[in-house]
Amino acid sequence: MILACVPLQRRHGVATLNRARAHVDAGELDAAQELLSQMLATLPGDARKARPAEAEAVVLQTGVLLSLGEPHAARGWAAYGHATFRRLYGDRDRRTLHSLGLLAAVLTRVGAHSRAAQRYQHLIEIFTELEGPRSERTLAARADLATVEHARGHCVKARNDLAGVIAEHQAAFGKVHPVSVRMLARLAGMYRDCGDPDRAVALLDQARSNAIGLPGEIIDLLTVASRAKADADHMCEAPAAADVETPPAQIAVREAPIARPFSTVSYLPEHPRLVAWEVPRPERVEKPAAKRMSPATMALVAAIIGIVAVTVLFVIVISTVSGG
Ligand SMILES: [Zn+2]
Repeated sequence: MILACVPLQRRHGVATLNRARAHVDAGELDAAQELLSQMLATLPGDARKARPAEAEAVVLQTGVLLSLGEPHAARGWAAYGHATFRRLYGDRDRRTLHSLGLLAAVLTRVGAHSRAAQRYQHLIEIFTELEGPRSERTLAARADLATVEHARGHCVKARNDLAGVIAEHQAAFGKVHPVSVRMLARLAGMYRDCGDPDRAVALLDQARSNAIGLPGEIIDLLTVASRAKADADHMCEAPAAADVETPPAQIAVREAPIARPFSTVSYLPEHPRLVAWEVPRPERVEKPAAKRMSPATMALVAAIIGIVAVTVLFVIVISTVSGG
């Protein structure tokens, strides 16, 4: 019924978007990417002209490409999607914040660490304002920022920051929680890359004991983390330098769960949680209510009318009597 009101081209776009979403739900990311690429072939070059369904397709494509391990291909879409959502929904809308998280994740994955850090800083500021400094999303964005700072070589500060976030998360949400367990695994990875394997092993033991009863994917993630080798390219306390971006890989590597950021727990959240494409509806203009008297006013008016009527009657009776 709603579709009957929208132009044919847009209707076609919405139908394609829904098919792409169905592919994402079924885990068919390659098919989703193909459909979205077709849809986005006619996208306006200027992000200011994109419509809501197109913007959502762009953000979905960003998530699909990231999940397929193609952050370089996702980079342009990530910036376009975020610019469009900002314009359509404002800075603080959940859709805009999701697209900002995606942009930060893309920048991290391509090695643009200082730009990624700026985006995470921005996310932290907004989440802190909206939800407070210890909300789940604020803590997650702080953990992501620590990860980026570590990649930039600001190791001691990054490890201390992440340890602080873990302590706050555990105090707020309990020790047995998938997010703080993942954070512990990430902290272990930092120590491993910084040449302190003993500390890494101790942290992973701690993570394993906090993971009892958690879903299997967390246990699998800890197994992967315990087998990982130290990053040979990592440089501790590197002097401030321009970002060295990684060249696009020849073969896409599907993203490892351990590398996934915390703030966007999934690049491809369930649809209702990501973006409900809202058809703009004309605002209902309510008719101004007819002016009504309050019961007290009505009672007063009735009393006055009564008094006047009685007085008039009294005058008539008197004049009739005196006349007779
Ligand atoms: Zn280091």
